[in-house]
Amino acid sequence: MAAKIFKLKVIACDKVFYEGGAEILTIPAEDGLMQIMADHESMVIAITNGAMSFRREDGETVNALTGTGFVCVAGGEVTMLSHYIERPEDIDVIRACEARERAEERLMQHQSKLEYYQSKASLARAMARMAYKTRFTDK
Ligand code: ATP
Repeated sequence: MAAKIFKLKVIACDKVFYEGGAEILTIPAEDGLMQIMADHESMVIAITNGAMSFRREDGETVNALTGTGFVCVAGGEVTMLSHYIERPEDIDVIRACEARERAEERLMQHQSKLEYYQSKASLARAMARMAYKTRFTDK
């Protein structure tokens, strides 16, 4: 029996990544991977840098790397809001490597608490991009 379809909207700061029907959504919740299907109870889930995927209503699976954000399940619809969403082929490893070096340099300097957390977040994004790209390139 075909899985029930729910309405999914995946939005990053700079784009609407997907809007349409989906069968299943897998997200990097802060305490591990979580899957959402149709008729999931209403809730808001914090997500972190990590692999996400969803199966579209035509059966195709979409894989991407997501940043921090939220997934809101309400009224039978699912909305994901994230700092960034990138497909494996769109990730520029050299740029991520340079971002990691910049973040590491900043972390070695004297920083305010806010700057320290910003540098840690930059480092986490760069490391996630590098790891995710390697994972897909090695397949
Ligand atoms: P950088 O210092 O290289 O800009 P960043 O982590 O500060 O990295 P973000 O704020 O996370 O960048 O993202 C800004 C925009 O640039 C987003 O659209 C994001 O998808 C894109 N982006 C950032 N780094 C990369 C990368 N290595 N490859 C592809 N797109 C990237």
